[in-house]
Amino acid sequence: MQRTIFLVDMNAFFISCELTRNPGLAEEPAAVAGDSLKRTGIILAANYPARKHGVRTAMVVHEAIKCCPNLKLFPPDHHFYATKSTEVMKILSCYTPVVEQNSIDEAWLDMTGCESLFGEPLASSQRIMNHILNDLGLWCSIGISDNKFLAKMASDMKKPLGITQLWKVDVPLKLWPLPILSMQGIGNQTAKKLHDLGIETIGDLARYPDDLLTLKLGKAGAELHNLANGIDSSPVVPHSANEMKSIGRSVTLPEDISDLESAKMVLLELADEVSMVARQFEKRGRTVQITLKYSNFEVITRQATISSTNLSKQIMSAGIQLLKQHWNPARPVRLLGISLSNFNKTSNLDQLSLFGLPETDHESPKEAKLDQVMDEIRNKYGSAKINRAILLNHPKTKD
Ligand SMILES: [Mg+2]
Repeated sequence: MQRTIFLVDMNAFFISCELTRNPGLAEEPAAVAGDSLKRTGIILAANYPARKHGVRTAMVVHEAIKCCPNLKLFPPDHHFYATKSTEVMKILSCYTPVVEQNSIDEAWLDMTGCESLFGEPLASSQRIMNHILNDLGLWCSIGISDNKFLAKMASDMKKPLGITQLWKVDVPLKLWPLPILSMQGIGNQTAKKLHDLGIETIGDLARYPDDLLTLKLGKAGAELHNLANGIDSSPVVPHSANEMKSIGRSVTLPEDISDLESAKMVLLELADEVSMVARQFEKRGRTVQITLKYSNFEVITRQATISSTNLSKQIMSAGIQLLKQHWNPARPVRLLGISLSNFNKTSNLDQLSLFGLPETDHESPKEAKLDQVMDEIRNKYGSAKINRAILLNHPKTKD
């Protein structure tokens, strides 16, 4: 049976979230830019008026201001974006139970068989777009196809507020002329390998002998060859909090860092975010893992087992401990990450004690209380308003 798959991708998501609470600025050039602790002075997301002036993601702030002197800047508030993301996902799940979230700002929907409820794909996608716009004031683009890969490629073809159908019959005309680097799943490294084989466009890849490609690139070669031909049978797999295996955050740094103190500051903030999400989903984990990607793109992960927790302080200190043990000042780092996994199997109810605090948090009721208060304030006012004293007072904090 032919499937109907949508990829709903939010347009300029972070800055659009900010503009929902600053509606007066919607027409002004605006961007979310990294604060003093992470991604120092880098544009994380620019709205469309700012893009018209040439402001782009990952641009250094002072360059962005050169192209656009009246650019309005917002510090990132990931907690707020996560909340908005949850609201988007809730709307999407009104249309089908089969929603697979791919990142904070996009998800696949398996809409197969939904025609009788919501109309043909064009009509139902328009309906979803309007629903998100009317309820949340946010824009999206939607790609429609019979598989995940083509739906994802389609969603990129028209932005903002675009609806694009890309069926298998459209592949030669619409997909094949595109440069190989625009293909979902191909990064600079693979693109370079393909260029060395004389492959410049997706069409070149589709027509390249598939056994030769497998010889050069291994299993990935056969897979890429299929995708370039518009073939992808992977299912849309719905996620729910119950199936959540780990909670992680990572950040690519604007400049590689080699001093431990700066790395600690970044890791503390990521750990704080991870633990906050864990508390939101009532997950307690026993494994804390850090990820370091070095300037040569080599990645290492190191983990530690702790007693089951979702407290910020415990996750932070396990992360910092790992960082200290495995830090090598001779190896600059370009990406840092931390995750919590190995969640408790028991239900949350089982863990509640007479005091209303989970059993595992009895040893540190003060910490649990502090986290609870911070979460409440952040939920009310956004996470930019409150930060742990250690993050604010650190002498190495740069502006
Ligand atoms: Mg996206």
